[in-house]
Amino acid sequence: MSLLQAASSYVGLEIANGILRSGRINGMGRLVARHDQPLAMTSLEALVNQLVAAVRAVDGTGDEAARAVGVAISGIVAANRVTMCANMPLLSDAPLGEELGRRLGRPVRLENDANAAAVAEAWQGAGRGGRAVLFVELGVGLGAGIVVDGRVWSGPNGYAGEIGHVQVDPNGAPCGCGLRGCLETIAGATGWMRRLRAALASRHSAVPTNGDQQAIVTAAVAGDVVALEIVAETARALGTTLAAAVGLLNLDRVVIGGGAAACPLLLDKVVAEARQRTLPRAFAECSFRLSELTDGACVLGAARVARVAMFGAAEAR
Ligand SMILES: [Zn+2]
Repeated sequence: MSLLQAASSYVGLEIANGILRSGRINGMGRLVARHDQPLAMTSLEALVNQLVAAVRAVDGTGDEAARAVGVAISGIVAANRVTMCANMPLLSDAPLGEELGRRLGRPVRLENDANAAAVAEAWQGAGRGGRAVLFVELGVGLGAGIVVDGRVWSGPNGYAGEIGHVQVDPNGAPCGCGLRGCLETIAGATGWMRRLRAALASRHSAVPTNGDQQAIVTAAVAGDVVALEIVAETARALGTTLAAAVGLLNLDRVVIGGGAAACPLLLDKVVAEARQRTLPRAFAECSFRLSELTDGACVLGAARVARVAMFGAAEAR
């Protein structure tokens, strides 16, 4: 690492649901400043103003000023542009990177949020030491990021890692994407709730009808049969998909994160399902783990993406 690299710092931003997170990493990759603020997206201009303020809130001065900025967004990103953003249509095809770069006078890199989290996990979290890392985030939807030798593989159009829309049941429930039986319809939070309601119509469970994923996990750990079935079905669908991913990509690390669903019980069941469906030698080389980073992962990953864009993955390690 050159002196220039060791001394340089980078800012990462995350445009999340109603909140704008920012942070700055120093040359050693340590998060040295963090700031959160409410996010109100009324126009592109207003958003850019907020992003500029968020950068300034964590930026250093003089030699410690950030050299570049990374921005994590829950949308499809290709060629440093958001091409599709279902939650925030304002961002679809908007010149966000260009506008922000012009205002800041520094390079700006946009990245899908799951990819940014994957970069962070591969760098400083449960994926560190892995060469081919898949990070899966279990939420209402399912996101994933693939990081190979420190760099995101997002594909020519930014659709790599869209694991939530891999079909696992040809006759399954309709998915918000227009397809049917996507992994998300089973392993996503909405799928858990749908199965809970269906089960409670005729069976007894310790989970109340308005119970959330945490309640289901807690009940499953305590041996509740309905809750255990929901977790097991999720593990079967997720383990099958992850086995395919290990087979296709020769992954050496799979990291599962997200909310309450990413629990040791689910992990154990996912590993058991994947083991039955993967070539033994390929499976033996791959370690499945729960994520180690919390809600700062996207900020850390976005800053790292900005840094890698400047110096390359090998040099930025
Ligand atoms: Zn889908």
